[in-house]
Amino acid sequence: MTQPILSLSATELEQWLADHDAPAYRRRQIWGWLGRGATTFDAMRELPKSLRVALDADFRATSLRSIAVSEADGGRTTKTLFELDGGHSVEAVVMRYADRSTLCISSQAGCPIGCPFCATGKFPFGRNLKAHEIVEQAVDAERVLAAEGRRLSHIVFMGMGEPMANYRAVIDSVRMLADPEMLGISPRRIVVSTSGLIPRITQLGDEKLPVTLAISLHAARDELRDVLVPINRKYPVNDLVEAAQAYGARTGRRVSYEWVMLAGVNDTERDARELGGLLKRKLAHVNLIPFNPVEDTPYHAPDRKAIRAFKEMVEAQGLNVTVRDTRGREADAACGQLHERVMKNKLAVS
Ligand code: SF4
Repeated sequence: MTQPILSLSATELEQWLADHDAPAYRRRQIWGWLGRGATTFDAMRELPKSLRVALDADFRATSLRSIAVSEADGGRTTKTLFELDGGHSVEAVVMRYADRSTLCISSQAGCPIGCPFCATGKFPFGRNLKAHEIVEQAVDAERVLAAEGRRLSHIVFMGMGEPMANYRAVIDSVRMLADPEMLGISPRRIVVSTSGLIPRITQLGDEKLPVTLAISLHAARDELRDVLVPINRKYPVNDLVEAAQAYGARTGRRVSYEWVMLAGVNDTERDARELGGLLKRKLAHVNLIPFNPVEDTPYHAPDRKAIRAFKEMVEAQGLNVTVRDTRGREADAACGQLHERVMKNKLAVS
């Protein structure tokens, strides 16, 4: 199998071009075509035919193979399951809004963190994605959106995996996504989430990449967070918030705290009070996410009334709070659900 072209750095591709008597500026043209979603080298019309043939002999435009797609919200949300080289698979979700198009991207096949409410955490960890496999998800989304007269404008690293556990590839991919010669998506429009790997949060602050940091918080006391987000046993919640706020202070970016709402588990008055206490007077935003039911878990989503009541209780603590819309419920929207359904079907037919 030939090499995926995005697995080459700019320097490596320019060296390959030099070896084929082609000028270095062709690299920018190739990246530009890929950024616009070209799926073949033959489609790159500015390139001489001989170069297109040579590229085709040595490279693939992408390493991802789409193996399932599901749709929701009247087509405004689409989820694609991609097979990776070697057989693992990951999901990517495109969400279309009036003023933006957002891609939820995966950074690992599976996830080693094992949160008990998460579909991804339920199946065995596969492997880290390489930087080009992350970028290729965005290139595919750009291709799909371009056909609809849209552009990909925002990226959230909230798909399968813990981005900070695949740190180097995630940072390299963010730099490529932001490169004006590739997709040109400003780091300010890229959200990197983490369940709480404190050393990586600190390292992220050194990168001079002002991405928005999202903390998958879900509980404000260690006793509960130890269960919901097991990495908390290593990196307790107060230390986590301190590291996240230090990142916010260094980059000038407001930190987002994600809170998956689980009925009777973390939606009580006590939880609202504890959350208020944890984030009081901090430059922070709380994003409440109604739980998207996952089979074989003991968790349920609170009803609308309970969500509103919790939001009001948290706001009363002086925090800035939004409730995330429940995009894509029919699209197996919680991360890992399409993967789970496709794998179950595979098992059923094998
Ligand atoms: S919620 Fe996020 S960190 Fe937790 S298991 Fe799922 S993908 Fe991993």
